[in-house]
Amino acid sequence: MPAPRVTAVAEASPAALAGLLVGDELVSLNGQQPRDVIEYQQLTDVGQLDVMVRRAGSDLARRVRVRKEEGQPLGLEVSTAVFDRVRTCDNHCAFCFIYQLPKGMRRSLYLKDDDYRLSFLYGNFTTLTRFTELDAERVIDERLGPLFVSIHATDPAVRAAMLRNPKGATSLRWLRVLLEAGIEIHGQVVVCPGVNDAAVLEDTLCGVLDEYPALATLGVVPLGLSRFSNEPDMRPHTRAEAAAVCATVADWQEIYRSTLGRRLVYLGDEYYLMAGIDFPPAASYDGYPQHENGIGMVQAFRDAFAGDHESAHGVRSGFFAWVDGAPAEGYRAPTTGPELAPLDGPDDRSDDRPIGVLTGTFGHEVLAPLLAAHPRADVRTVRVENEFFGGTIGVAGLLTGPDLARVLAAEPEGHRYLLPDACLSQGRFIDGSAPDELPRAVEIVGSDGWSLRCAPKMRRHFTNPNAPLAMVQMAPGTFLWEKR
Ligand code: SF4
Repeated sequence: MPAPRVTAVAEASPAALAGLLVGDELVSLNGQQPRDVIEYQQLTDVGQLDVMVRRAGSDLARRVRVRKEEGQPLGLEVSTAVFDRVRTCDNHCAFCFIYQLPKGMRRSLYLKDDDYRLSFLYGNFTTLTRFTELDAERVIDERLGPLFVSIHATDPAVRAAMLRNPKGATSLRWLRVLLEAGIEIHGQVVVCPGVNDAAVLEDTLCGVLDEYPALATLGVVPLGLSRFSNEPDMRPHTRAEAAAVCATVADWQEIYRSTLGRRLVYLGDEYYLMAGIDFPPAASYDGYPQHENGIGMVQAFRDAFAGDHESAHGVRSGFFAWVDGAPAEGYRAPTTGPELAPLDGPDDRSDDRPIGVLTGTFGHEVLAPLLAAHPRADVRTVRVENEFFGGTIGVAGLLTGPDLARVLAAEPEGHRYLLPDACLSQGRFIDGSAPDELPRAVEIVGSDGWSLRCAPKMRRHFTNPNAPLAMVQMAPGTFLWEKR
């Protein structure tokens, strides 16, 4: 198993005072080799730590003794979150967006992970088809929740067919095991019209009530289709089909409420836009438990725009998105590179140039009426059609350099152009180009600002991890996730 490599040492931290350096390989921590940053965090939470370190240019490991308070961060960042191999997915879903990417993009985009640790760390969805008895023991013993599970259908035959993997028929047994052990789990159904909508969706929502009533929440989202899909059975929803999904979910919210005392199921924002139906009130999202997955973002954004930050900030923003030692690189990279400092939003009155807010077609539908009603008349949305991906892709998180360049070239000079950071990963668009290659200067605005963000299916690769979290040890083995 490769040893984690140090990529950053915090100034004046216990690690720095003990002499640990960038580039060091951490061979063992108190005699144990951590498999991932979860174990790393547990091993480094102690007061006294012997670190076996292999330094560049030397094959021999040396021992470094670190003295610190119990629970005090060691002060290192390491090169990856999983030190043994990331468990890759053995499914072949026709709706998988990774198969719908053009060739030649950066390698990390093609990583199909199905690893419960990345579900815990970053909120990635897992199908549990590669989950094992040992994994279940670890999740339950270490209380590794919440986890995020792709359900898609509770009918075993339908699920196996959707995942194109016979294990899809049986892997939800782990869902039951984990729920019975009290692990918090959020589910997702990606709806493909003609495959798992209509009667199959009804059956799935009924199956959840029958078999998995302890599920914390269930998100129902539409498939995303790019022009690179070559799956004959995958197609966009018609407006009527989208409206039918809205009605089904609304009915089941009532059924769940009357039987379980809570709504349990929530619908992806795209559905309301596709169906032309107004969004339900903010209160009906119950604190936005699946905000990161594109559920309730519009309503939370509207609230924030109206000045109700209390409501909008009820959102859950990931779980291990930032923790001492855990980088997102390879799984979920920070959106902006170090050279791109987020700027003030359009309330910055020191600059009175007109403002154009760049956004995708979905974001435009939501933002345009809000900005039209805004007292400042010179703020407008700049709608960017996603010709790069085509298909149904209208979210701001998948905007690309070529599309932005085409639209910006036709916009006047001398205006301010705001760009949501959701479409960047380490300062680059998904196509690999950078904001400074655009024909107009743009200002990158953060996730608390103006973005209506990513496609849930692609979330693992692009999104901002949102507000950083810190893991705080409350007692040995008990951790609390806390917003910084
Ligand atoms: S959608 Fe998820 S589970 Fe299906 S093939 Fe893609 S990565 Fe695997």
